[in-house]
Amino acid sequence: MLFLRAPGEISYIYPKPFPMIRFHAINGRLTDAAQASLHVNDLAILRGYGIFDFFLVKTGRPLFIEDYLDRFFNSAHLMELDLPVSRTGLHEKILEVIEANKLTEGAIRLLLTGGYAEDSFTPQSPNWLVLAHDLKPHKQELFTAGGKLLLQQFQREFPMAKTINYGNALRMRKKITEADAHEALYHNGREVLESFRSNIFFVFDGPVLATPAEGILLGITRKHVLEMGSSLMPVEVRPISVGEIRHAREAFLTGSNKPILPVIQIGEHQIGDGKVGRVTRQLMDSWGDYLAAAAK
Ligand SMILES: *Cc1c(COP(=O)(O)O)cnc(C)c1O
Repeated sequence: MLFLRAPGEISYIYPKPFPMIRFHAINGRLTDAAQASLHVNDLAILRGYGIFDFFLVKTGRPLFIEDYLDRFFNSAHLMELDLPVSRTGLHEKILEVIEANKLTEGAIRLLLTGGYAEDSFTPQSPNWLVLAHDLKPHKQELFTAGGKLLLQQFQREFPMAKTINYGNALRMRKKITEADAHEALYHNGREVLESFRSNIFFVFDGPVLATPAEGILLGITRKHVLEMGSSLMPVEVRPISVGEIRHAREAFLTGSNKPILPVIQIGEHQIGDGKVGRVTRQLMDSWGDYLAAAAK
């Protein structure tokens, strides 16, 4: 179907009408999506105790599924949550949910909560959910013009775990909108970390592609962009000081649902000439081929 946008905007082909999401799986059982719920006694609600993960489904197949399963199990381990299902069992359930929804283009969200606690504190048995998503198309303008990031000193509590706690990001929403920004870039007073839901990359003179090494969630997109980028230029995974932002020629965010989003301003600093950079564009253009090669 062809969607015509406002004059000046690129018209684009919308892949297919989104299938209606009809099923999720709760503790392994397929459940009508409209009825899918957990009891209020879950520690996710009472204490914000839980982890999740999120990945795309393309042509009916989950993208980089082994990477995401690795990370989901690692997050569970870091938060001392026991998954009541095996890796194979979870993988099969994901495929079952995709199939039940006839999901060709969309996403899957995995969730592992603290589970029900009668005394509101002591975990008993975690609840695990496989949720199907359809996706809205991105605002193309953000990708052609690039986004703005605020700078914020903030460190996520368990940086290596994908926990469900996005309290800071959510409470910042008004500030972000007022500043016409996309997200905020976290730093710890010395070094740049990541943004609300994405990893940050810089292109420095060389060109060299650089991304922070520690104190962050190790993004799956980050991993693959590093791999793809390393065939084009030197890559550096190292501490990046806040002061280095000034010297960046280009910057971009990575995340499963972006996958690469150009950044043209960080705090007070304009990045490069304030336009989407050459390397960023090249990586964005190469992503499709990279996926196709990875799917073989
Ligand atoms: C999910 C997330 C990312 C990006 O990870 P991907 O695996 O690329 O989606 C980065 N930082 C945080 C805090 C995240 O939650």
